[in-house]
Amino acid sequence: KDFNYIRDIFLDEIKSPKTVISDLKYLQQGLRRSGRRMKIIANPSNNKEQIIVDKDVFPRPPASKSELKSRPPVVTVMGHVDHGKTTLLDALRHSSVVEQEFGGITQHIGAFSVTLDSGAKITFLDTPGHAAFSAMRARGAFVTDIVVLVVAADDGVMEQTLESIRMAREAKVPILVAINKIDSPKADVGRTEQMLVEAGIQIEKLGGDVQAIPISALKKQNLNLLTEALVLQAELLEVGADPSGPVEAVVVESRLDSNKGKLCTCIVQRGILTKGNILVAGTAFCKVRNLHDAEGKVMKEVFPGYPVEIEGWKDLPAPGELVLQVETEKRARDVVKFRQDKLDAEKLEEDAVMIAEKRAHHEKEYYERLKLKRSLGRYKLKNDGPRKPEIPKDDDPTPALNVILKSDVDGTLEAVLNALDTYDQDGCKMDLVHYGVGSVSETDVELAQIFKGIIYAFNVNCNPNIMDLAENAGVQIKFYNVIYKLVDDVKEEINKRLPEKE
Ligand code: GDP
Repeated sequence: KDFNYIRDIFLDEIKSPKTVISDLKYLQQGLRRSGRRMKIIANPSNNKEQIIVDKDVFPRPPASKSELKSRPPVVTVMGHVDHGKTTLLDALRHSSVVEQEFGGITQHIGAFSVTLDSGAKITFLDTPGHAAFSAMRARGAFVTDIVVLVVAADDGVMEQTLESIRMAREAKVPILVAINKIDSPKADVGRTEQMLVEAGIQIEKLGGDVQAIPISALKKQNLNLLTEALVLQAELLEVGADPSGPVEAVVVESRLDSNKGKLCTCIVQRGILTKGNILVAGTAFCKVRNLHDAEGKVMKEVFPGYPVEIEGWKDLPAPGELVLQVETEKRARDVVKFRQDKLDAEKLEEDAVMIAEKRAHHEKEYYERLKLKRSLGRYKLKNDGPRKPEIPKDDDPTPALNVILKSDVDGTLEAVLNALDTYDQDGCKMDLVHYGVGSVSETDVELAQIFKGIIYAFNVNCNPNIMDLAENAGVQIKFYNVIYKLVDDVKEEINKRLPEKE
């Protein structure tokens, strides 16, 4: 169900299978370059190769080093509350020469880039550090090249400072320290440095390799030292990106604007984004209507490493979501639908498992009562109670029959279990996914579909809508009003599933 189409190639019909396979591999590479995946499954048992093209869209394989061009580093500012992160970002934003020249008014779009006097550029994320960082990490998106750890010199290393260090370390992002508030009379840079070392940050001055720059965000002191250090660090890291091919970007922030509609700020990571491009992010898609920078200026093209506010989203994608360019609107719709269906199916499956678990609990009590009754009688129950039903997997070698039983009276279950107990068949698992009194319902059909089970309706009917639903879902509903016939059918279904005796 996950794939566009499946092609079987029968190798015995082909004179030189090796050539075909090498052709397939070539096709596979070509597809990968446009963000599609193809699986080649060799099946020696029937001498058949299968090609499966995935419906989803994926990032392209990493570019080779020679394809990388330098780009602005992307920097996240983190640190303890009140240590001056916002003040620093504001100071940096207004320090941009571009802004000085044009007198533009910056607005908060989640990220901005500054141009230094030297012409070098740096992109800063200005979403609250921790939350954004976690959201990105949770989705496996890595946008940050360098973390600026802000530590107030009058306060030193605090709880969230340690938390920031831990997060940066886990994400393997290098840290640059800004010891802030050096203008404050209570500032103690030496003590702060000492605390940093104790927290595992080996600062340069004390023999380590992490730069710690004393600044005052408020008085705009030493900001150029900080930005120069960032540029140098980026050069050391050889920060680069591939500006060719389909666009890949990461969502930093998204919002609803009363005039422009759904907007989202992204950092481009690959390719060059232009107006008219078609993008997919999670289950949202976009035909790019307009591109703006943090000063509200229109951008014609956006290169890797730059933030941009994109207009034209049909839905709002979540921060950390990966943005991928696709060829056509049709393909975008297909990808989004495919992803939505997959999410819905997963949700349905989760719900069904929950229902089944709840019912298993209820049924267990029923079983206990039954066991008690049985222990007085001649027979003993084979099982300890109903097993937790499992969704059958295609590759599980043990055959299984999942049953959903609906009947008019409570005693039917007992009768069926009674009968089945005397029928010893170990080659096939049989699970009762659900039993209940009453006619066949929509939930029963859903359960049967997910658990690939059969619905037995004993002395109850089923309305035509549900019948249609079952038919469309490929679910069998069997009606009986004589118990032994029902039991015979269950036995037959079990026998059908047993491997043929040699
Ligand atoms: P955040 O919570 O880390 O974003 O911290 P803020 O930027 O909101 O700053 C918290 C307080 O510290 C504010 O009152 C700032 O004015 C003050 N502050 C920030 N930077 C400096 C600085 O360099 N020197 C002094 N003296 N105060 C600062």
